[in-house]
Amino acid sequence: MDSDTGDEERSGRGGVIVLLAVLAATAAAVLGVHWAVSVLFATVVAAAVLIRAPSRRKTAEKIDVFSGEADRLAGIKGALAATDMPLYLLDARENIVFENPVAAKTFGEGPVGQHVSLRNRSPAILDMVRETIAAGKSTEVEYSERLPSTQVYAVNCAEVAASVQGSGVARYFVLSFRDISETRRLDRMRSDFVANASHELRTPLAAVGGFIETLQGPARKDPKAAEKFLGIMMEQVNRMNRLVDDLLSLSRLELKAHIAPSEKVDLGPLLGQVRDGLTHLANDLDVELRLHLPENPVVVTGDRDELMQVFENLIQNACKYGQEGKKVDITLGGGGETPVEVTVRDYGQGIPAEHIPRLTERFYRVSVEASRSKKGTGLGLAIVKHILTRHRARLIVTSKEGEGSAFTVRF
Ligand code: ADP
Repeated sequence: MDSDTGDEERSGRGGVIVLLAVLAATAAAVLGVHWAVSVLFATVVAAAVLIRAPSRRKTAEKIDVFSGEADRLAGIKGALAATDMPLYLLDARENIVFENPVAAKTFGEGPVGQHVSLRNRSPAILDMVRETIAAGKSTEVEYSERLPSTQVYAVNCAEVAASVQGSGVARYFVLSFRDISETRRLDRMRSDFVANASHELRTPLAAVGGFIETLQGPARKDPKAAEKFLGIMMEQVNRMNRLVDDLLSLSRLELKAHIAPSEKVDLGPLLGQVRDGLTHLANDLDVELRLHLPENPVVVTGDRDELMQVFENLIQNACKYGQEGKKVDITLGGGGETPVEVTVRDYGQGIPAEHIPRLTERFYRVSVEASRSKKGTGLGLAIVKHILTRHRARLIVTSKEGEGSAFTVRF
């Protein structure tokens, strides 16, 4: 801005000097003044021309920059380059004028000037680009890529404000790819979860409904059948209660997932307490619980009740699913320089390798029947994982079919 004003001033001054020189020369001619005055006149004119010359060059450049789009394009490219999503700048002939580094990294680099269809052949995207260029209205389509992994993008094409260039209009369009894979994955997880939870509740509800009908109809006057059916109905109600308790537990944990616990918890006595609480179940299943504690106390930062829930769950599972092994070892180790670890090991049938990575998914069970018959909800390990995430701890599962499994919590 300042330099523009300076140019105007300078050229104005030059004009005044030329005008004065012309007036002086006319006066000299009229008055018949000496030739030296004419030399002076020529010098003044030359000086005026010199003063004007650079200024005219500058003005010519300025017109080029403004109408030639160089500055404007550089500005647009700079903004696109700094944006953290794949973006292409297209001209009105659908050619790529610029691709930002994220686009080059995500979809591979290509020469500038290419038609957009040489980079992306999705008919939906190409139609959208055509439509935006024709109508000048921003449009959006969903586009997914399967390789190397499934990615879903919301692809948008919008016009950058057009600018007048000489007699024509320079139009540019931004083609952007917003990655919505994570949102889609969460949507699917949420709807799967609701479907699974409803299904889990519907089964006992249907059973209870069926028994009520039987009691109202054929078994109306049969006290023995009534007693039996009421017992089964109670079991189903208890199952629904367990499920609702676990669902509430999960949603409470989700709410405080980002708040790290701050209590100091001595793990030795805590594990002793959990073992005592489960002795009854272990005796019923004919499993011996063996607790191995180091001599020194091992203290971690955590939430006492939640950690109890974790070890209760792991030890219960070891007793239920590793019953054949007849014993369960609970070992506390580490502390000081090494990470604190609690391992719950059973000697049962073990878990086939392909199931291990999915064990902590909600409602994932190696065998649905085995889990139901052992009063499982399929949510125990999902709760364990949630609690451990909040504690910045990990669950490591190792298992050998026929030899048993080890669930290690590493703090
Ligand atoms: P559930 O309520 O079904 O026990 P969990 O989330 O606690 O749910 O466990 C998920 C599944 O993991 C169980 O159904 C079972 O198939 C498997 N599992 C968990 N612990 C063990 C174990 N110690 N040995 C064998 N399988 C196990």
